[in-house]
Amino acid sequence: MKERIPIVEKILSANDHIAAQNKSALDSAGVLGLNFMASPGAGKTSLIEHTIKKLKDRLKLAVVDGDVATSIDADRAAAAGAQSVQINTGGECHLDAIMLQGALSELHLEEIDLLIVENVGNLICPASFKLGTHKSVLIASVPEGDDKPYKYPGMYRGVEALVINKIDLLPYVEFDMEYFRQGVEILNPGLVTFPLSCRTDEGLDAYLAWVETEMEAHRRVVQ
Ligand code: MG
Ligand code: ZN
Repeated sequence: MKERIPIVEKILSANDHIAAQNKSALDSAGVLGLNFMASPGAGKTSLIEHTIKKLKDRLKLAVVDGDVATSIDADRAAAAGAQSVQINTGGECHLDAIMLQGALSELHLEEIDLLIVENVGNLICPASFKLGTHKSVLIASVPEGDDKPYKYPGMYRGVEALVINKIDLLPYVEFDMEYFRQGVEILNPGLVTFPLSCRTDEGLDAYLAWVETEMEAHRRVVQ
């Protein structure tokens, strides 16, 4: 154990170093970077598609898609009208800053306002690897159950916004919204939260308004 801890710390600090480079590349091009994290099937890609379709007339968007295999999600982002780059992690269960750096080199950052990074579907290690994005968004979903904040505290602590997707399913599944939100509040007091449904579009406007507000705030800081 004594020997292994410094090695892990070294890897993380190398990652943080590249993450800082990614952030300054985004900043100098005036790009706001969002890191979308969730368990598989929570609806990251659906939310990204909605974001592209609703904002593409006002913002130039790009998507970097991290997946263990396939380019299905990157293809969906491209079909919705965004520049997209696929990262196949080759089995890794999270994205790291070096992977994102490679993807950024394939994008024309000067032509982009908003970059969404779709992390690998996983509620554990994506929380530990900084990418250099500005804000992290966690997408939870009703069918996953209301106990997830209690089971995956690291993920809920480290994000700046929370989407609760698939609220159209609330009448059909056991999901105690109060219990869920109490768990979130303990870990991340006052966390900006958007209950919504990508199927019915209910609640989507508040989330989209948040994205645009963040975009404006970021423009003021980097200009
Ligand atoms: Mg996806
Ligand atoms: Zn991992």
